[in-house]
Amino acid sequence: MTADLLQSLTDPQREAVLHVDGPLLVLAGPGSGKTRVITHRIAHLLSQGVRPTQIAALTFTNKAADEMRSRLDRLAPGENVWIGTFHRFCARLLRQYAEYRGLQPNYTIYDTSDSLSLLKRTIRETDVQLTHATPEQVASAISWAKNHLIEADRYVGGVNATGSIVERVYPKYQAALQQANAVDFDDLLMHVTLLLKENEELRASLDERFRYILVDEYQDTNLPQYAIVRAMSIQYPNLGVTGDPDQSIYGWRGANLKNILEFESDFPAVKVVRLEQNYRSTPNILSVADALIANNKQRKKKSLFTDNPAGKAVRMIQYSTHKEEAQAIAARISAQVAQGKRRPRDYAIFYRINALSRTFEDAMRQQGVPYMIVSGVEFYHRKEIKDLLAYALLMNNPRDDVAFERIVNVPKRAIGKATLLKVRLHAATEGLSMLEAAREAGMIDGLGNRAAVALAKFVALFDRLSTKINDPVEEILGFVLSESEFKRQYEATDDVEDQTRLENIEELLSSAREYDTEHPHDGTLEHYLEEKTLVNETDDFDAEMDRVTLMTLHAAKGLEFPVVHIVALEQGLLPHERSRENPEQLEEERRLLFVGITRAEEELDLSMARYRDFRGKRNMTIPSPFLMELPRDEMEVTEEQTAFAPDFPLDESFFPEFPISGQRSLDLPRPALPSAVTNIRTAADLLGEREGDAQPRVEPNAFVQGMVVTHDEYGLGKIIALSGEGAKRTATVRFASGAGEKKFRLAYSPLRPA
Ligand code: ATP
Ligand code: MG
Repeated sequence: MTADLLQSLTDPQREAVLHVDGPLLVLAGPGSGKTRVITHRIAHLLSQGVRPTQIAALTFTNKAADEMRSRLDRLAPGENVWIGTFHRFCARLLRQYAEYRGLQPNYTIYDTSDSLSLLKRTIRETDVQLTHATPEQVASAISWAKNHLIEADRYVGGVNATGSIVERVYPKYQAALQQANAVDFDDLLMHVTLLLKENEELRASLDERFRYILVDEYQDTNLPQYAIVRAMSIQYPNLGVTGDPDQSIYGWRGANLKNILEFESDFPAVKVVRLEQNYRSTPNILSVADALIANNKQRKKKSLFTDNPAGKAVRMIQYSTHKEEAQAIAARISAQVAQGKRRPRDYAIFYRINALSRTFEDAMRQQGVPYMIVSGVEFYHRKEIKDLLAYALLMNNPRDDVAFERIVNVPKRAIGKATLLKVRLHAATEGLSMLEAAREAGMIDGLGNRAAVALAKFVALFDRLSTKINDPVEEILGFVLSESEFKRQYEATDDVEDQTRLENIEELLSSAREYDTEHPHDGTLEHYLEEKTLVNETDDFDAEMDRVTLMTLHAAKGLEFPVVHIVALEQGLLPHERSRENPEQLEEERRLLFVGITRAEEELDLSMARYRDFRGKRNMTIPSPFLMELPRDEMEVTEEQTAFAPDFPLDESFFPEFPISGQRSLDLPRPALPSAVTNIRTAADLLGEREGDAQPRVEPNAFVQGMVVTHDEYGLGKIIALSGEGAKRTATVRFASGAGEKKFRLAYSPLRPA
């Protein structure tokens, strides 16, 4: 390793990079070079004679892994170090040792939607009444159990209704997976954990093989991930982890902060390095981040400084409507790009949930700003893509019942539900896979001749396809398309959507072509399918593309952008409504915002809208309580002045969370808002107001929590609670006038939406 590579590091960074044997914990805030330490440390280990195959570097997203690989390629070109996500790492180990877990090496990995459809089938066949729980809730309970390493036969449901359903369904679901030679995402981790736990020799040999394990974003590991790296670091305890407890955002997936907080007690001989200099952000941005995270109770305080120039003040902007928010941001980006100040790829827009992206997409398109939405999973979730891949999955693993059921009648082959039910029954009684059962169609009780012939034709098609299994992937998919007449279903129509489907199929073929080119010798259908199943959120992201990035806050982890916009900072969105009653989840939401803020290098805008159309309704919003926690004096706080405002005399006492300052230092081009006034009408219309109706009757259900209402006598107020149904629907309103809180039966009250 050349000296100048070490020179580009601070003293503590260098200390971590030069560490060779023994456990290492790098605990540091955002932008302090943790990821940089990992890549440099790998390069250093290689320079010390450690063989590349003895190193494994684990992360959480493919994007982070790719980034690490390209950084390492610059430091140590051509070295064959294993770098990837935990899930990929486990998928690979499980292929090698599948039989230890009762699987075959060609097992299928079910994505979330495939697992859910298998689960639904299991629920139907288990004869349980799902009155108290949805299949999704059962799925999440099973996922929770797996992330806590509770196996199906050890699951005890307890007294509540959902628990006892899960107790009955989980073992059956697991058996169905096993029967189909398949695993779900959580299984990848759980199988490998159990593999290591139950086979000491194997564990010891893997411990020896991967002598140096490095984990980035260690704060987000859950119990199985922790157990895996821990089990492989006993004889060779060279486990090096980097993390920031303040950036732990996967509690809902079972991530356990204890893993990082207790690392020091797990490995008493650990070398601990703290990095305190931030290289990413301006002091203004860091101070906002710092003030926010200081509100979390469950944390160790860290100090972080930067030598970067102060930069611009962080801006907090309140827009009138969600549309205005999106348009103003798009217009600002468009103007700055047009002036040559920045490039589109310098900007990122983060939101809490995917559903919020639509308005921003529209605004970007209107302004002609190139953008990309980062959510790689979507493409592979499209029906035509899943269908086509299901053929390949079934070829790879003929026991994959979910794939079989998905395509046996796609395109239509007159194989209906009744037929499938009989095949399934036959499979269950004979202990066969669906495909094997279909082979015996002639022997299935009560199956008509036509159905038996249709099944036999399908089996013959399958056998024909299977002869190609070792061809390049593009050829395999092409062969499936031609033999199965798959495209026929979309070609025959003028439907625009079918046109899009055909384009998507072409897109999939190009991905296969790319795969074949990248893997001229070692490519297999199985590996291609695994790559496609394990795509995750940030996979579409390509920093080289000159586009504005739109992504969720979760996907933004580990990344950095010169200008960051965090939008829709409103109660119920950020923090998410499900964190309302739960202080721990509220802290996690705060960390999520902290992660978002600390992605910004030079400029940061935080915004909200007073009205937002969401889930088909227009609601008056409540500002996110997190906004109240920020150091306003150091920030530029702005309320957009529009036609909306005069109708809506808010003052500080009314919205103590978001005092409106007199400052109106807007430097952004004002979006044209000809419709602002009509918007109010539209809002009122939506809520039931009719023109000329002096005392409009408002549907009780039109009143929602947080809505601002008006009362002839008491004036403006805000609904702070709602109870009862129908004619008894009651709202508690807090009035701004000093009238205090009052309750109203909505069916009879003169309350109106403001
Ligand atoms: P996060 O917690 O957000 O993942 P991190 O601690 O992993 O952040 P890095 O992404 O490694 O931080 O580094 C942040 C930025 O600072 C990167 O652009 C990196 O190249 C730069 N950087 C880190 N250390 C130095 C250094 N010593 N000299 C110059 N630039 C540095
Ligand atoms: Mg990092």
